[in-house]
Amino acid sequence: MIPTQITQKQGRPAQHWQPFKENRAECRLCPRHCRPKNNRMGFCGVRGTIDGEIKTFNYGEALAATEEIIETEAVNHFSPGARILSMGNVGCMMACSFCQNWETSQIQHLDYKMVRHYTPEQLVDMCLENNIPIISWTYNDPVVWHEFVIETSKLAQKNGIKTLYKSAFYIEEEPVKELIECIDIFSLSLKSLNEEFYQKQTKAKLQPVLDRIKQVAASGRHLELSQLVIPELNDSDEDIIETIDWVLEHVGADVPLHFVAFHPAYQYIHVERTDISTLKQARALALKKGMKHVYLGNAYEPDLNDTSCQQCGTVLVKRYGLHSQVQNLSDESCCIKCGEQSPIIAPLKNTNKTGATSELENNIEIIWDDEAQSAHILQIKGTGEKDQIYIRSLNTNHVEIKELSHGLDRFIVSRQSADETGIIISWDSDCEYQNLAVLDRAHYPTNPPEQEIVFT
Ligand code: SF4
Repeated sequence: MIPTQITQKQGRPAQHWQPFKENRAECRLCPRHCRPKNNRMGFCGVRGTIDGEIKTFNYGEALAATEEIIETEAVNHFSPGARILSMGNVGCMMACSFCQNWETSQIQHLDYKMVRHYTPEQLVDMCLENNIPIISWTYNDPVVWHEFVIETSKLAQKNGIKTLYKSAFYIEEEPVKELIECIDIFSLSLKSLNEEFYQKQTKAKLQPVLDRIKQVAASGRHLELSQLVIPELNDSDEDIIETIDWVLEHVGADVPLHFVAFHPAYQYIHVERTDISTLKQARALALKKGMKHVYLGNAYEPDLNDTSCQQCGTVLVKRYGLHSQVQNLSDESCCIKCGEQSPIIAPLKNTNKTGATSELENNIEIIWDDEAQSAHILQIKGTGEKDQIYIRSLNTNHVEIKELSHGLDRFIVSRQSADETGIIISWDSDCEYQNLAVLDRAHYPTNPPEQEIVFT
């Protein structure tokens, strides 16, 4: 059935479907090809049949827009350190047993009080007014709000804003052609090369994912690949080598490849977090086989994830966790020591403000621990005015200043060095903030508001 919270809306015309039988239609957005009966939803829970037509029920229905950093999305070679506006919606065309965002991706678990409504214009305006150069479609999976993604991405590009698509990419060929037209950066997740893994653990199939990755690779759009390394599921040397061999054969040695640590989540909680030694072994295998740029995700260790000049070895981008610092790169992205062209694309001007602050009345102290080394800061009471927040490192006293306006009321903070034990968030206004631990990159911690947000 179509959930009552959704039937408050009539649904909007969807693309990528064809008539099936009287009062039914076949959705062709993802390879699942659902044929929902009248007034029923497909597998994703956000596209359904009304009077013989597939409608989309989550156009603009989103989680709170969140300012993050491009490294959150397993993207290391496009504008390191760039601020992004992360946008997640609800529903998913897959059902991974280990999903870290299951409270929003699996519609049966969703608390609708968390859902907000945005228009394409509002999001573009939010980026422009907050000096955020990239909008990122992320979290649950952007496939299932395709129409909204396409419309907003086109508008964003017209306004000089880049677009990023982070996805498990279980999607059909035709919609990918549309994405290639309006997405600048693809961060795609290849979970395994094992068909049984896909069917059993994700309720999807492997081959369409492989075909679509090849489609993006052939388009020449910026592409980075990642594999979540899950204990006992896909973490053996054989699993890793299968992935590496496929990437080398079908995408090439130059594509950045990220091996990402898993934290126990949803239905897969009987294991520990992925050990760093497993990730290091995966990287060693990939480098040995000829991959040129291999990174480790959710790994907070110094020097692990630097990008070095392929010619002379000079460090070009220094990284710790989600934090990155461009070094030794010319404006043309060449190594300033030897002149070799680097693979880093268009470092954007850093628009973060820095400064100093005395102690302000309102404070939140966050102490980093092994479980959580980044957090979302949420405005839980606003004034409708621009607000200024100071983020001070407890160890260096370095202060970053964040300004929130035009509906942006959530942002990420993360540990910037091994020495940093914590940070203090402070502000002077009548606003109220709270923090939620982010357990992994691209994890959206949930905290439903007290009041239900009414669909418009
Ligand atoms: S997008 Fe949703 S309704 Fe359409 S085929 Fe995929 S799971 Fe089914």
